[in-house]
Amino acid sequence: MRSCDVLIVGGGPAGSTAAWKLRRAGADVLVLDRERFPRLKLCAGWITPEVVRDLDMDLRSYPHRLLTFPRLRVHFGRLHVPVPCVQHSIRRFEFDAWLLERSGAPLEQHNVRRIARDGNGFVIDDAFRCRWLIGAGGTRCPVYRTLFRELNPRAAELQIVTLEHEIQYDWQDRDCHLWFFDHGLPGYSWYVPKEQGWLNVGVGGIAERMKRGGHDIRQHWAHLAARLGGQLAPGAHYDPSGYSYYLRGRVDVVRRDNAFITGDAAGLATRDLGEGIGPAIRSAVRAAQAIVEGTPYRLEDVTGASVGSIARSMLGRATRAGVFSGRRQTPGGGPVHGLRHRDQ
Ligand SMILES: Cc1cc2nc3c(=O)[nH]c(=O)nc-3n(C[C@H](O)[C@H](O)[C@H](O)COP(=O)(O)OP(=O)(O)OC[C@H]3O[C@@H](n4cnc5c(N)ncnc54)[C@H](O)[C@@H]3O)c2cc1C
Repeated sequence: MRSCDVLIVGGGPAGSTAAWKLRRAGADVLVLDRERFPRLKLCAGWITPEVVRDLDMDLRSYPHRLLTFPRLRVHFGRLHVPVPCVQHSIRRFEFDAWLLERSGAPLEQHNVRRIARDGNGFVIDDAFRCRWLIGAGGTRCPVYRTLFRELNPRAAELQIVTLEHEIQYDWQDRDCHLWFFDHGLPGYSWYVPKEQGWLNVGVGGIAERMKRGGHDIRQHWAHLAARLGGQLAPGAHYDPSGYSYYLRGRVDVVRRDNAFITGDAAGLATRDLGEGIGPAIRSAVRAAQAIVEGTPYRLEDVTGASVGSIARSMLGRATRAGVFSGRRQTPGGGPVHGLRHRDQ
Protein backbone atom coordinates (compact mmCIF):
# COMPACT_ATOMS: atom_id res chain seq x y z
CA MET A 1 0.00 0.00 0.00
CA ARG A 2 1.33 3.42 -0.96
CA SER A 3 1.29 6.06 1.81
CA CYS A 4 1.44 9.85 1.63
CA ASP A 5 0.56 12.86 3.80
CA VAL A 6 -1.98 14.32 1.39
CA LEU A 7 -3.83 12.49 -1.33
CA ILE A 8 -5.59 14.62 -3.93
CA VAL A 9 -8.31 13.07 -6.04
CA GLY A 10 -8.39 14.89 -9.40
CA GLY A 11 -5.70 16.79 -11.26
CA GLY A 12 -7.80 19.66 -12.68
CA PRO A 13 -7.15 23.28 -11.61
CA ALA A 14 -8.30 22.59 -8.03
CA GLY A 15 -6.17 19.46 -7.60
CA SER A 16 -3.03 20.84 -9.23
CA THR A 17 -3.26 24.10 -7.27
CA ALA A 18 -3.59 22.28 -3.96
CA ALA A 19 -0.66 20.06 -4.97
CA TRP A 20 1.46 23.07 -5.93
CA LYS A 21 0.81 24.90 -2.66
CA LEU A 22 1.33 21.80 -0.54
CA ARG A 23 4.54 20.80 -2.29
CA ARG A 24 5.91 24.29 -1.79
CA ALA A 25 5.26 23.85 1.93
CA GLY A 26 7.16 20.56 1.87
CA ALA A 27 4.21 18.16 2.12
CA ASP A 28 4.35 14.66 0.72
CA VAL A 29 1.56 14.76 -1.87
CA LEU A 30 0.14 12.34 -4.40
CA VAL A 31 -2.38 13.24 -7.12
CA LEU A 32 -4.66 10.57 -8.57
CA ASP A 33 -6.56 11.19 -11.79
CA ARG A 34 -8.46 8.68 -13.86
CA GLU A 35 -7.27 10.35 -17.07
CA ARG A 36 -3.87 10.49 -18.65
CA PHE A 37 -2.62 14.09 -19.05
CA PRO A 38 -2.84 16.13 -21.14
CA ARG A 39 -6.54 15.33 -21.17
CA LEU A 40 -9.61 16.89 -22.74
CA LYS A 41 -11.74 18.99 -20.40
CA LEU A 42 -14.87 20.57 -21.81
CA CYS A 43 -14.48 24.22 -20.94
CA ALA A 44 -14.41 27.55 -22.77
CA GLY A 45 -11.05 28.27 -21.11
CA TRP A 46 -11.76 31.87 -20.11
CA ILE A 47 -9.66 32.94 -17.13
CA THR A 48 -9.66 36.14 -15.11
CA PRO A 49 -6.83 38.32 -13.77
CA GLU A 50 -7.61 36.86 -10.32
CA VAL A 51 -6.72 33.40 -11.61
CA VAL A 52 -3.44 34.73 -12.95
CA ARG A 53 -2.67 36.28 -9.58
CA ASP A 54 -3.72 33.29 -7.49
CA LEU A 55 -1.50 31.07 -9.62
CA ASP A 56 1.42 33.48 -9.50
CA MET A 57 1.55 33.17 -13.27
CA ASP A 58 4.02 35.19 -15.29
CA LEU A 59 2.03 35.51 -18.49
CA ARG A 60 5.19 36.19 -20.51
CA SER A 61 6.65 32.83 -19.69
CA TYR A 62 3.48 30.73 -19.97
CA PRO A 63 4.60 28.21 -22.60
CA HIS A 64 1.23 27.54 -24.29
CA ARG A 65 -1.58 29.38 -26.04
CA LEU A 66 -2.81 32.41 -24.14
CA LEU A 67 -4.84 35.22 -25.63
CA THR A 68 -5.69 38.41 -23.78
CA PHE A 69 -8.96 40.17 -24.51
CA PRO A 70 -9.07 43.95 -24.19
CA ARG A 71 -12.86 43.75 -23.94
CA LEU A 72 -15.78 41.34 -23.78
CA ARG A 73 -18.48 41.77 -26.39
CA VAL A 74 -21.77 41.18 -24.65
CA HIS A 75 -25.04 40.83 -26.61
CA PHE A 76 -28.58 41.01 -25.24
CA GLY A 77 -30.97 40.71 -28.17
CA ARG A 78 -30.35 43.83 -30.24
CA LEU A 79 -28.23 45.46 -27.60
CA HIS A 80 -24.50 45.00 -28.25
CA VAL A 81 -22.19 46.23 -25.51
CA PRO A 82 -18.38 46.21 -25.61
CA VAL A 83 -17.24 45.85 -22.01
CA PRO A 84 -13.67 47.14 -21.70
CA CYS A 85 -11.88 44.81 -19.29
CA VAL A 86 -8.88 42.51 -19.39
CA GLN A 87 -9.62 38.79 -19.51
CA HIS A 88 -7.72 35.83 -20.97
CA SER A 89 -8.28 32.55 -22.78
CA ILE A 90 -6.22 29.37 -22.51
CA ARG A 91 -6.74 25.83 -23.81
CA ARG A 92 -7.59 23.52 -20.93
CA PHE A 93 -5.82 20.68 -22.70
CA GLU A 94 -2.56 22.58 -22.24
CA PHE A 95 -3.25 24.63 -19.12
CA ASP A 96 -4.24 21.75 -16.84
CA ALA A 97 -1.23 19.63 -17.81
CA TRP A 98 1.07 22.61 -17.32
CA LEU A 99 -0.32 23.34 -13.86
CA LEU A 100 0.11 19.74 -12.82
CA GLU A 101 3.64 19.55 -14.09
CA ARG A 102 4.51 22.85 -12.44
CA SER A 103 3.22 21.56 -9.10
CA GLY A 104 6.02 18.98 -9.06
CA ALA A 105 3.65 16.49 -7.43
CA PRO A 106 3.68 12.85 -8.49
CA LEU A 107 0.62 11.90 -10.53
CA GLU A 108 -0.83 8.43 -10.86
CA GLN A 109 -3.48 7.41 -13.32
CA HIS A 110 -6.10 5.76 -11.14
CA ASN A 111 -9.88 5.83 -11.12
CA VAL A 112 -10.83 6.27 -7.46
CA ARG A 113 -13.82 4.16 -6.42
CA ARG A 114 -13.74 3.31 -2.72
CA ILE A 115 -12.82 5.61 0.12
CA ALA A 116 -12.69 4.22 3.65
CA ARG A 117 -11.80 5.89 6.91
CA ASP A 118 -8.70 4.52 8.59
CA GLY A 119 -7.97 5.92 12.05
CA ASN A 120 -7.16 9.61 11.48
CA GLY A 121 -6.83 9.14 7.76
CA PHE A 122 -8.22 7.34 4.73
CA VAL A 123 -7.59 4.30 2.59
CA ILE A 124 -8.38 4.53 -1.12
CA ASP A 125 -9.22 1.40 -3.09
CA ASP A 126 -7.09 -0.64 -0.67
CA ALA A 127 -4.08 0.74 -2.50
CA PHE A 128 -3.34 4.20 -1.06
CA ARG A 129 -3.24 5.46 2.51
CA CYS A 130 -3.18 9.13 3.50
CA ARG A 131 -3.66 11.38 6.49
CA TRP A 132 -5.32 14.20 4.54
CA LEU A 133 -7.68 13.82 1.61
CA ILE A 134 -8.62 16.53 -0.90
CA GLY A 135 -11.59 15.97 -3.19
CA ALA A 136 -10.86 17.80 -6.45
CA GLY A 137 -12.55 15.34 -8.78
CA GLY A 138 -15.05 17.75 -10.35
CA THR A 139 -18.80 17.21 -10.54
CA ARG A 140 -18.57 13.44 -10.03
CA CYS A 141 -15.86 13.53 -7.38
CA PRO A 142 -15.83 10.30 -5.34
CA VAL A 143 -14.76 12.21 -2.19
CA TYR A 144 -17.89 14.35 -2.48
CA ARG A 145 -20.01 11.29 -3.22
CA THR A 146 -18.70 9.27 -0.29
CA LEU A 147 -18.20 11.81 2.46
CA PHE A 148 -20.16 14.96 1.64
CA ARG A 149 -23.16 14.30 -0.57
CA GLU A 150 -25.58 13.48 2.21
CA LEU A 151 -24.58 16.51 4.26
CA ASN A 152 -24.32 18.84 1.32
CA PRO A 153 -26.72 17.76 -1.41
CA ARG A 154 -26.50 19.74 -4.64
CA ALA A 155 -29.51 21.82 -5.60
CA ALA A 156 -31.11 20.59 -8.82
CA GLU A 157 -32.08 24.16 -9.77
CA LEU A 158 -28.38 25.07 -9.90
CA GLN A 159 -27.39 22.43 -12.42
CA ILE A 160 -26.02 23.80 -15.68
CA VAL A 161 -26.07 21.82 -18.91
CA THR A 162 -23.69 22.68 -21.70
CA LEU A 163 -22.76 21.76 -25.23
CA GLU A 164 -19.40 22.85 -26.57
CA HIS A 165 -16.68 22.20 -29.07
CA GLU A 166 -13.11 23.46 -29.37
CA ILE A 167 -11.86 23.42 -32.94
CA GLN A 168 -8.88 24.49 -34.94
CA TYR A 169 -10.13 27.49 -36.84
CA ASP A 170 -8.47 30.48 -38.40
CA TRP A 171 -10.66 33.06 -36.70
CA GLN A 172 -10.60 36.70 -37.78
CA ASP A 173 -12.42 38.31 -34.85
CA ARG A 174 -10.19 38.06 -31.80
CA ASP A 175 -12.76 39.32 -29.28
CA CYS A 176 -14.70 37.13 -26.90
CA HIS A 177 -18.48 37.26 -27.57
CA LEU A 178 -21.25 36.31 -25.16
CA TRP A 179 -24.95 36.16 -26.12
CA PHE A 180 -27.31 36.19 -23.15
CA PHE A 181 -30.83 34.73 -23.18
CA ASP A 182 -30.72 34.23 -26.94
CA HIS A 183 -33.94 32.58 -28.19
CA GLY A 184 -35.08 32.25 -24.56
CA LEU A 185 -31.98 30.33 -23.42
CA PRO A 186 -31.79 30.54 -19.59
CA GLY A 187 -28.05 31.14 -19.82
CA TYR A 188 -25.69 32.23 -22.56
CA SER A 189 -23.72 31.10 -25.57
CA TRP A 190 -20.14 31.99 -26.32
CA TYR A 191 -17.42 32.45 -28.92
CA VAL A 192 -13.98 32.31 -27.30
CA PRO A 193 -10.95 32.50 -29.61
CA LYS A 194 -7.67 31.00 -28.47
CA GLU A 195 -4.22 32.00 -29.56
CA GLN A 196 -2.93 30.57 -32.84
CA GLY A 197 -6.08 29.45 -34.55
CA TRP A 198 -8.18 27.63 -31.98
CA LEU A 199 -11.76 28.49 -31.18
CA ASN A 200 -14.16 27.37 -28.46
CA VAL A 201 -17.90 27.79 -28.93
CA GLY A 202 -20.72 26.61 -26.72
CA VAL A 203 -24.07 27.07 -25.04
CA GLY A 204 -24.95 26.65 -21.39
CA GLY A 205 -28.15 27.05 -19.42
CA ILE A 206 -29.91 26.10 -16.21
CA ALA A 207 -31.13 22.53 -16.77
CA GLU A 208 -34.34 22.80 -14.78
CA ARG A 209 -35.48 26.02 -16.46
CA MET A 210 -34.72 24.59 -19.86
CA LYS A 211 -36.81 21.56 -19.08
CA ARG A 212 -39.67 23.64 -17.72
CA GLY A 213 -39.61 25.92 -20.75
CA GLY A 214 -39.48 22.98 -23.17
CA HIS A 215 -36.03 24.00 -24.43
CA ASP A 216 -33.71 21.55 -26.07
CA ILE A 217 -30.05 22.49 -25.77
CA ARG A 218 -29.42 21.10 -29.25
CA GLN A 219 -31.80 23.70 -30.66
CA HIS A 220 -29.83 26.40 -28.92
CA TRP A 221 -26.67 24.90 -30.33
CA ALA A 222 -28.23 25.04 -33.82
CA HIS A 223 -29.03 28.76 -33.32
CA LEU A 224 -25.48 29.45 -32.26
CA ALA A 225 -23.97 27.47 -35.13
CA ALA A 226 -26.19 29.35 -37.60
CA ARG A 227 -25.19 32.69 -36.08
CA LEU A 228 -21.50 31.84 -36.23
CA GLY A 229 -21.80 30.47 -39.75
CA GLY A 230 -23.20 33.76 -40.99
CA GLN A 231 -20.81 36.00 -39.09
CA LEU A 232 -17.88 35.05 -36.95
CA ALA A 233 -16.92 31.56 -38.06
CA PRO A 234 -18.09 30.84 -41.60
CA GLY A 235 -17.37 27.30 -42.79
CA ALA A 236 -16.59 25.93 -39.30
CA HIS A 237 -17.69 22.36 -38.54
CA TYR A 238 -18.65 21.17 -35.09
CA ASP A 239 -19.27 17.96 -33.24
CA PRO A 240 -20.26 19.24 -29.79
CA SER A 241 -20.16 17.28 -26.52
CA GLY A 242 -22.20 17.82 -23.38
CA TYR A 243 -21.27 18.18 -19.74
CA SER A 244 -23.01 19.40 -16.63
CA TYR A 245 -21.88 21.08 -13.44
CA TYR A 246 -23.31 23.10 -10.57
CA LEU A 247 -23.44 26.76 -9.74
CA ARG A 248 -22.70 27.79 -6.22
CA GLY A 249 -25.44 27.06 -3.77
CA ARG A 250 -25.24 26.56 -0.04
CA VAL A 251 -21.96 24.86 0.63
CA ASP A 252 -22.22 24.37 4.34
CA VAL A 253 -19.90 21.44 4.80
CA VAL A 254 -16.66 21.50 2.82
CA ARG A 255 -14.47 19.84 5.43
CA ARG A 256 -14.99 16.72 7.50
CA ASP A 257 -12.10 15.94 9.81
CA ASN A 258 -9.15 15.57 7.47
CA ALA A 259 -11.16 15.51 4.23
CA PHE A 260 -11.87 18.58 2.05
CA ILE A 261 -13.81 19.28 -1.11
CA THR A 262 -12.72 21.96 -3.59
CA GLY A 263 -13.77 23.36 -6.98
CA ASP A 264 -16.58 21.65 -8.87
CA ALA A 265 -16.61 18.85 -6.32
CA ALA A 266 -18.00 21.43 -3.89
CA GLY A 267 -20.15 23.09 -6.60
CA LEU A 268 -18.50 26.50 -6.59
CA ALA A 269 -18.97 27.94 -10.10
CA THR A 270 -20.20 31.54 -10.03
CA ARG A 271 -23.94 32.14 -10.05
CA ASP A 272 -23.89 34.73 -12.84
CA LEU A 273 -21.48 33.32 -15.46
CA GLY A 274 -20.72 29.76 -14.38
CA GLU A 275 -17.04 30.62 -13.95
CA GLY A 276 -15.47 27.64 -12.20
CA ILE A 277 -11.71 27.81 -12.74
CA GLY A 278 -11.15 30.77 -10.41
CA PRO A 279 -13.25 29.33 -7.55
CA ALA A 280 -11.56 25.93 -8.01
CA ILE A 281 -8.13 27.51 -7.67
CA ARG A 282 -8.98 29.78 -4.75
CA SER A 283 -10.71 27.00 -2.81
CA ALA A 284 -7.70 24.73 -3.36
CA VAL A 285 -5.37 27.43 -2.05
CA ARG A 286 -7.52 27.68 1.07
CA ALA A 287 -7.63 23.89 1.56
CA ALA A 288 -3.84 23.67 1.27
CA GLN A 289 -3.49 26.52 3.77
CA ALA A 290 -5.80 24.76 6.20
CA ILE A 291 -3.57 21.69 6.07
CA VAL A 292 -0.24 23.50 6.26
CA GLU A 293 -1.11 26.28 8.68
CA GLY A 294 -3.97 24.75 10.60
CA THR A 295 -6.30 27.62 9.60
CA PRO A 296 -10.03 27.02 9.21
CA TYR A 297 -11.08 26.04 5.68
CA ARG A 298 -13.46 28.83 4.66
CA LEU A 299 -14.78 29.84 1.28
CA GLU A 300 -15.58 33.42 2.20
CA ASP A 301 -13.17 34.93 -0.30
CA VAL A 302 -13.99 32.42 -3.04
CA THR A 303 -16.07 34.52 -5.38
CA GLY A 304 -19.65 33.54 -6.08
CA ALA A 305 -20.12 36.11 -8.87
CA SER A 306 -17.93 36.97 -11.85
CA VAL A 307 -19.33 40.42 -12.45
CA GLY A 308 -17.24 41.80 -9.57
CA SER A 309 -14.03 40.62 -11.19
CA ILE A 310 -15.05 42.13 -14.51
CA ALA A 311 -15.94 45.42 -12.83
CA ARG A 312 -12.59 45.47 -11.00
CA SER A 313 -10.80 44.87 -14.27
CA MET A 314 -12.79 47.69 -15.93
CA LEU A 315 -11.97 50.03 -13.10
CA GLY A 316 -8.29 49.04 -13.10
CA ARG A 317 -8.08 49.68 -16.81
CA ALA A 318 -9.83 53.01 -16.54
CA THR A 319 -7.42 54.04 -13.82
CA ARG A 320 -4.35 52.84 -15.75
CA ALA A 321 -5.56 54.55 -18.90
CA GLY A 322 -5.85 57.82 -17.04
CA VAL A 323 -9.61 58.30 -16.98
CA PHE A 324 -9.30 59.51 -13.40
CA SER A 325 -5.82 60.98 -13.66
CA GLY A 326 -6.32 62.87 -16.91
CA ARG A 327 -3.73 60.87 -18.91
CA ARG A 328 -4.45 59.90 -22.52
CA GLN A 329 -6.43 56.74 -23.11
CA THR A 330 -5.45 54.11 -25.67
CA PRO A 331 -7.63 54.31 -28.81
CA GLY A 332 -10.55 51.92 -28.51
CA GLY A 333 -10.46 52.19 -24.74
CA GLY A 334 -7.68 49.72 -24.05
CA PRO A 335 -4.68 47.78 -25.27
CA VAL A 336 -4.19 48.05 -29.01
CA HIS A 337 -6.34 45.61 -30.94
CA GLY A 338 -4.39 42.90 -32.74
CA LEU A 339 -1.56 42.55 -30.25
CA ARG A 340 -1.15 39.68 -27.87
CA HIS A 341 -1.36 41.49 -24.58
CA ARG A 342 0.36 40.11 -21.55
CA ASP A 343 -0.71 42.58 -18.94
CA GLN A 344 -3.11 41.39 -16.32
C1 LIG B 1 -18.71 23.63 -21.37
C2 LIG B 1 -18.11 24.29 -20.16
C3 LIG B 1 -17.49 25.53 -20.29
C4 LIG B 1 -16.88 26.13 -19.19
N1 LIG B 1 -16.23 27.31 -19.36
C5 LIG B 1 -15.58 27.88 -18.31
C6 LIG B 1 -14.78 29.04 -18.51
O1 LIG B 1 -14.62 29.53 -19.64
N2 LIG B 1 -14.17 29.59 -17.44
C7 LIG B 1 -14.31 29.06 -16.19
O2 LIG B 1 -13.75 29.62 -15.23
N3 LIG B 1 -15.02 27.94 -15.97
C8 LIG B 1 -15.64 27.33 -17.01
N4 LIG B 1 -16.31 26.14 -16.82
C9 LIG B 1 -16.27 25.52 -15.50
C10 LIG B 1 -14.90 24.86 -15.27
O3 LIG B 1 -14.57 24.03 -16.37
C11 LIG B 1 -14.89 24.04 -13.99
O4 LIG B 1 -15.53 24.75 -12.97
C12 LIG B 1 -13.47 23.70 -13.56
O5 LIG B 1 -12.87 22.83 -14.47
C13 LIG B 1 -13.47 23.05 -12.16
O6 LIG B 1 -12.17 22.59 -11.88
P1 LIG B 1 -11.95 21.33 -10.91
O7 LIG B 1 -10.47 21.19 -10.76
O8 LIG B 1 -12.80 21.48 -9.72
O9 LIG B 1 -12.55 20.08 -11.69
P2 LIG B 1 -12.13 19.45 -13.13
O10 LIG B 1 -11.47 20.44 -13.98
O11 LIG B 1 -13.39 18.80 -13.63
O12 LIG B 1 -11.10 18.34 -12.75
C14 LIG B 1 -11.50 17.17 -12.08
C15 LIG B 1 -10.49 16.07 -12.37
O13 LIG B 1 -10.85 14.94 -11.56
C16 LIG B 1 -10.69 13.75 -12.29
N5 LIG B 1 -11.55 12.72 -11.72
C17 LIG B 1 -12.90 12.70 -11.71
N6 LIG B 1 -13.35 11.58 -11.11
C18 LIG B 1 -12.25 10.89 -10.73
C19 LIG B 1 -12.05 9.65 -10.07
N7 LIG B 1 -13.08 8.87 -9.69
N8 LIG B 1 -10.78 9.22 -9.83
C20 LIG B 1 -9.72 9.97 -10.23
N9 LIG B 1 -9.86 11.15 -10.87
C21 LIG B 1 -11.10 11.62 -11.10
C22 LIG B 1 -11.08 14.14 -13.70
O14 LIG B 1 -10.49 13.28 -14.67
C23 LIG B 1 -10.52 15.58 -13.80
O15 LIG B 1 -9.22 15.61 -14.35
C24 LIG B 1 -16.92 25.51 -17.91
C25 LIG B 1 -17.53 24.26 -17.77
C26 LIG B 1 -18.11 23.65 -18.89
C27 LIG B 1 -18.74 22.31 -18.74
